[in-house]
Amino acid sequence: MRPLLAILSLVASCICSAADLTPGVSIFGRSSFIEYIPGDLPLIISAPHGGRLKPADMPDRTNGVVDIDANTQELARTIASVIHEQTGRHIHLVICSLHRSKLDANRDLPEAAQNSPLAEHAWTEHHDFIDQACAAAVKQFGVAFLIDLHGHGHAEARIELGYLHNALELADCDEALNESTYANAGSLRWIAERSPLSYTALLRGPQSFGALLELEGFPATPSPRIPVPTEPFFRGGYTIQRHCSAERQVAGLQIEANRPRLRDTAENRLQFSHALVKVLRTYFPIHLGIRLDPPKPVLEAQ
Ligand SMILES: [Zn+2]
Repeated sequence: MRPLLAILSLVASCICSAADLTPGVSIFGRSSFIEYIPGDLPLIISAPHGGRLKPADMPDRTNGVVDIDANTQELARTIASVIHEQTGRHIHLVICSLHRSKLDANRDLPEAAQNSPLAEHAWTEHHDFIDQACAAAVKQFGVAFLIDLHGHGHAEARIELGYLHNALELADCDEALNESTYANAGSLRWIAERSPLSYTALLRGPQSFGALLELEGFPATPSPRIPVPTEPFFRGGYTIQRHCSAERQVAGLQIEANRPRLRDTAENRLQFSHALVKVLRTYFPIHLGIRLDPPKPVLEAQ
């Protein structure tokens, strides 16, 4: 490439990437399989299992779970729009539109894509977008909070909160759970290292995510009422394990939402989204020192 052309091309790509990162405006990966909506809040929601696309040139996965987490893509978008309605600001959203029979973005690459180059490319984009979103939030706020949003089909109609601890670990006594080995292995490590609260208080105390959800009328575990989940229980998977890192200033959790009365109808998704946003607006100031409020009005010069 001639030097002038190279410079022009570089300028064009810079302009393009700045424009691409307008909060609330979607950008897409190859073939629009993965969508990233950049935000201007330190909250990232990823929805890996709510996609419906089944491209014919991408082979079906032959092992592992292939069922959709129904309506979780719609739920993620509704949560984002409620936050925007209330604050005038945008969360970061990363959505996989591929059906889980084609790609499971919440697994490591071999199980996720099962040797399909097309699926492998989409998997890489999905996690690159989460990295990009977390880095943008850290740059702006000093911390990023990631929610990987799922839906479970377990018999118990409750929300399961995955902090990378299974039910057996959560059955351990408070004294053992408050040893630093647990917090160091969990997805809230960044918060635990700074909080005056004990680790068990972060997991299931009166100011925990589970406690706040229950206050809004949505059963959740771990929480003060259900400190130890009954099995089956999802502990949090690949995405939370990979991206929640105290070194990179990212904390978060996996939310597994039950279907009845929560994500089954548009009305219920809206009702839950309002409850979740209320939870987040209480949780963020307590645990992250950040308020999810509208930006302060700028006073005009006199
Ligand atoms: Zn899922």
